[in-house]
Parts: sequence; structure tokens; C-alpha cells
Amino acid sequence: TQDSPLPPAATPETVLKDVFGYDAFREGQGDVIHHVCNGGDALVLLPTGGGKSLCYQIPALVMQGTTIVVSPLISLMQDQVEQLLALGVSAAYLNSTLPTDTQSDIADKLINGKLDLLYVSPERLLQFGFQQTLKHADISLFAIDEAHCVSHWGHDFRQDYRALGQIKSRFKDIPVIGLTATADAATQQDILTQLQLDAPLVYKGSFDRPNIRYRVMSKYKAFEQVVAYVKQQDGSGIIYCNSRAKVDDLHAKLFRQGFRCAAYHAGLDTDEREFVQRQFLTDKIDIVVATVAFGMGINKSNVRYVVHHDVPRSIESYYQETGRAGRDGLESEALLLFDEKDAARVKQWISQGELEDRNQIELQKFAAMEAFSEAQTCRRQVLLNYFSQFSDSACGNCDICLDPPKMIDGTVISQKVLSCVLRLQQQAATQYVIDVLRGKQLKRLQEAGHHQLSTYGIGKDKSDSYWHNIINQLIHKGLIRVDITANAALRLTEAARPVLKGEIAIQLATPRLEFKPDKKAKQA
Ligand code: ADP
Ligand code: ZN
Repeated sequence: TQDSPLPPAATPETVLKDVFGYDAFREGQGDVIHHVCNGGDALVLLPTGGGKSLCYQIPALVMQGTTIVVSPLISLMQDQVEQLLALGVSAAYLNSTLPTDTQSDIADKLINGKLDLLYVSPERLLQFGFQQTLKHADISLFAIDEAHCVSHWGHDFRQDYRALGQIKSRFKDIPVIGLTATADAATQQDILTQLQLDAPLVYKGSFDRPNIRYRVMSKYKAFEQVVAYVKQQDGSGIIYCNSRAKVDDLHAKLFRQGFRCAAYHAGLDTDEREFVQRQFLTDKIDIVVATVAFGMGINKSNVRYVVHHDVPRSIESYYQETGRAGRDGLESEALLLFDEKDAARVKQWISQGELEDRNQIELQKFAAMEAFSEAQTCRRQVLLNYFSQFSDSACGNCDICLDPPKMIDGTVISQKVLSCVLRLQQQAATQYVIDVLRGKQLKRLQEAGHHQLSTYGIGKDKSDSYWHNIINQLIHKGLIRVDITANAALRLTEAARPVLKGEIAIQLATPRLEFKPDKKAKQA
């Protein structure tokens, strides 16, 4: 473009150095950028802070024409455009908060080839008027930020995003790059399908944050636990609660105890929220008690701990929120206070949602979060496993690794579960498998003839929660996979075969089961 700060012979390497001032690509960036500059489609899965922006900003400067960046968050658009302008890049954003004449100025610039990058919201992209403008513009690339919003399997599905699939059919020859920090297998596959990417390069980076120590404690006296924890800490922290009321309440109590803290949620006005952010960034306060509204676009590198006062609704949210700790690479901690009663309440809320399909997906996502909280194996393995990043060694930096539960030879126990899953044709979900294992006298089992299976009743001597725990461990170890696209049916993975055949032994943790008198009483 005419106003580009670069001579026409710009390459990804020269742009990286001359415009952004960096010496080398991070792993994956170079391959993705070259692929896109050669006209290819791509999907980039990298955790927050992983360096996704350069994957489309550099092609935008190397390729002829304007790159259209679709982003759902107005504040992030503004930040990025400001940063780019400061680097001498010709960038702008278009959204409904701008005055009408500014909007038409930007449209003129677009048509006249004066922009290297234009950020738009998804609804703007699909507006008829804007589509007409696009026809007259020279477009080099479409970049879809937060691409998981296009998928029903994602944790943040947005209706506006669904229609982004049309881009590929309307602009056949223009490459599309999707970017997201969410990477479970179902979402990843769905993004590719929804965006109709053509022979895409899929790059997935590591989701591990080795300097964050994961800890889970069962929650019994939340306030005292939080106070005791915070007193031990040096430096800044964020405490997440799941409602505004809880934020205000916890903040008031901590404030009375003399902590330098502030509350943050969407119920406060913009000025107040900006004030809190600034205070936190400049270390004038130590603690922000917040809802999930706090975090997007907050770039504080020295957050030492993140506490979840309440269990989040998905592993994606948990990962994003805990990921705000330790951006500087120094030792940090993530503490989750887990209470089964909270979990039951969350499940109830989710089931009351209006969209039945949506509820089922959300319940599956929450089940994974619950499994993480109850895991007896390395927390980091569970987390990374969820993002399909399997590792066979424990991390040494989580509560389970640091204070391990008692291990036993679980080969026979595992074989019972695995063969039961197999006998049920890998079509049954967890509770059903448990019902068969425990030989329950249920009508649905008898009607399906499953009381005649050889595995019926082989796990009679143990409780439901025992088997739940064992199945979760087998999921975490990668022997069983939950297929959320098939009513959460348990499937065996390749790794299950040698265990079933007795070729390898498997270690399991003795489930730490709490006695729950009320439940037992009902069953009796
Ligand atoms: P994401 O969008 O994945 O959350 P960003 O694109 O905002 O991450 O990048 C995070 C930080 O890393 C930014 O400050 C960015 O400038 C920096 N960064 C990205 N790529 C490189 C690189 N190749 N060398 C050095 N710093 C980089
Ligand atoms: Zn660990």
C-alpha cells in the first residue's frame, strides 16, 4: 500500500526486524507467516501471550492490499491499532462507537488502499453496506481473532461469528487465518469446518505454563482460607468470584482486615474500572477481587497468584484466568477452592439454560473442570491433556506432584473399566458404565440386555464415587476419551490396548473419598 513504511521488497524477516524490532520468530510464527504470505489458509492455536498477533500483522505488511482483522472486543481493537500506529503502521478500526463521518473516512481510506490493517467487529463485517465497500477494496487477508467463537464446542460461542463461514465462499482467492487460545480437539476441528479453511496449516503451540504451580484445596471456610493464603503471599494477586455480590462482599471483608485491595466487575462504571486497573498496574494496590470481567487485555506481568474462590465453568476459562499469573516467567501460583456443593449449583444453573443443545455442551465442559478439581494425578497433565497436549511425565510443580496420593497397582481395576467400556460398544457414558460395573438392577440396563454382559457386576464391591474417580484417572492418563460429540460416550484410545491385553501394568492413585453421610443415607 502507498502509505506503508516499507519498501516493496519487504519480507517477513525484514518486517519483523524493521517494524517490530524483534530478532527472531517464536516457534511456529515463521512457518505460519510464510504460508499465509504465499496465499495459504491457517489456524493458529497458541495460549494468550503466545504471539498470535504477529501471525497476521506481518503478512498484512508483506502482502499487497489491506488485511481485515475480525475481533469481538472493542477495547482490544483500540489497543492494537494504537500500538500499530505508534510503530508507523497504517491501521484503523471500524465499529459502531465511532462517529458516522469518521466511519466513512475510514471506508474511503480502505477503498483507496491507504490501510495495511483494518479491524472490524463480526457484525460490521457482515453488514450489507460494508460488504459493498469490501468489493471495491483490495483485500490481502482475513484474520479471524478469537476464532473459537465460531464453534458451538467453544466456551464462548457467538452468533455473529457463525456467519463468518461465508467469507471463504464470497472471497474465494483470499487467504483466511484463524487464531485462538482454545484448543480442545472438538473445537479445533469445528473451527476448520465452520471457517471452511482450504488445506490449512494448523499450528499448535505449547499450552504449558511451567512457572505456574497449580493447587486445589477443598473449600470449607472460604474467607478464612483466602485470608490465610493471601497473608503468605508477596506481590500482586487476583481473586476471582463467580458473582458481583460475592466480589463486593469478599472485597469489603478483606478491606476491613487492612488488605490493599479493590473490587472489579461489570457493574462498576468505566471510570471506576479504569481507576482500579491503573492502581493495580502501578502496584498501588495488591489485590483485585473480581469477576471474569477483569482480565481481558490487562497486561500486568508480575501477578504472583490467582485464586479461584469459586470453581470456573470450563477448563478454558480456568486456564485463561490462571494464565494471568506469572507472565514475567517467575514462580507463581494458581489456587482453586473447590466445593462439591458449588459444583452441584453450577450444574443446576447450566441445565436451566434456554438452549438444550448448548446446555449439554456446557455440562460436558464443566464435567472436565470438575474432573480437574478432583484429579489424583498431576494437575498439569490433566490440563494439557484437555488441550490435547499429552505428556507422560508428571510436572513436579503442582499440589499432587508435591504431595502425592498413595499409588497402587491399578492394572486389574483398569481392565475392569476398559473391558466394560468395550463390551458396551464404546457407546455408553460414565454413569452407565458404572451402573453396569456395579451390577445395578435398572430397567434400562435390562432392556438393553446389558445385565447379561460378562462385566456386569464385576465392580460391585466399590461405590459410584470410587469408580468415577478411577474413570477420571483413566481419562487423565489418556486411556479413555470422552466423546462430547456423541453424548459423552467413553471411547478407548490406542493406549488402552496393551493394558487390556495385560502387556503393561498401570499405577493408579487410591481414591481419597470423603464420607458423604447425606448421600449414603438416601441410598440406603
Ligand atoms: P497473543 O495475541 O497470542 O495473546 P500477542 O500477539 O499479544 O499474544 O504477543 C504477546 C507478546 O509477545 C507481545 O508483547 C508481542 O510483542 C511479543 N512477541 C510476539 N512475537 C514475538 C517475537 N517473535 N519476538 C519477541 N516478542 C514477540
Ligand atoms: Zn504435577
